[in-house]
Amino acid sequence: MPAKLTEVHPGIYEIFLPLPMRPTIINVYLIDCHGKWALVDTGMNTPESLATLEDALCQVGITIRDLDLLIGTHHHVDHFGTSAIIKQRSNALTLLHQYETERVTRILTLGPPAASPEAREFFLTHGFPIDKYPLEGMRPAWMGTGAYSPVPKPDKYLSDGDIIPIGDRELEIIWTPGHSPGHCVVYLRKEKVLIVGDHLLPKITPHVGLYPSSPSANPLGDFLNSQLKVQRFDVQLVLPAHGAIYHDHRYRANQLIEHHRYREAEMLDIVKRTPKCAFDVAMEVFGDEERPIFHVMAATFETLAHLEYAVIEGRARKSQRNGRTVYQTV
Ligand SMILES: [Zn+2]
Repeated sequence: MPAKLTEVHPGIYEIFLPLPMRPTIINVYLIDCHGKWALVDTGMNTPESLATLEDALCQVGITIRDLDLLIGTHHHVDHFGTSAIIKQRSNALTLLHQYETERVTRILTLGPPAASPEAREFFLTHGFPIDKYPLEGMRPAWMGTGAYSPVPKPDKYLSDGDIIPIGDRELEIIWTPGHSPGHCVVYLRKEKVLIVGDHLLPKITPHVGLYPSSPSANPLGDFLNSQLKVQRFDVQLVLPAHGAIYHDHRYRANQLIEHHRYREAEMLDIVKRTPKCAFDVAMEVFGDEERPIFHVMAATFETLAHLEYAVIEGRARKSQRNGRTVYQTV
């Protein structure tokens, strides 16, 4: 497939890579640093995606071997899935946040999400009917396939405030936990360009969930703080991983904050009179029709992230009832 590639800012190229799932495209960003080349995110490790990436690089006159720097915004399959191959072929300096590396290790070494006794306990206490579902069904289709081929350990960890000089450019790292614990965005201060990964998507709200073994007890609080944080930066062009490029990151950040406020209010309304567990609240908010188990899990743990945030902020309290953690509005 001939690659679609757009120069969105002088020397900054958006490359559209195919995904075998929704969203069906991921945008990765190639930066010409004049003598050096950087790539932010990699796509999934499928033959189509890799061929498309190679074709795109060919259009600007380089190959994978010419890449000098590879940054993963986060560990997810569509963002970091091809990093091992790119690293192997280019020996590019590969950077990822430490929390993301921990996720990579878990995915590569552990089985389905509820396989460990601690995870099982976590699922049960939040009302998730784990025994109704075969464990294999609880993992995404790509897990255990070659589509996820991440670098197991980056050359260096990304940290908040890092400034990475490369060629004639400087890439600034802003740590934006929420969608995943070590999610980072890349800021080009001089160019006023912000590469946002999944943190600030123009059309969809990224999933924010509380999972067993999460390094943060409050991922939604983190996500909302990260929305406030990016607003401090002066940006003219926002480059998202899915959807069209846009301009007003502050406006979009506020919309996302509003969305979660509304969602939380909806959930607190459900637990006004009767305390309920995260799974039961999720079924009321997201609907209880048949859907892939993976989506039911996402809905449950996104709901849990909202309920825990409400507890931390003093708008709800939690207690134990019949072996389950239940939440109620204060
Ligand atoms: Zn993601």
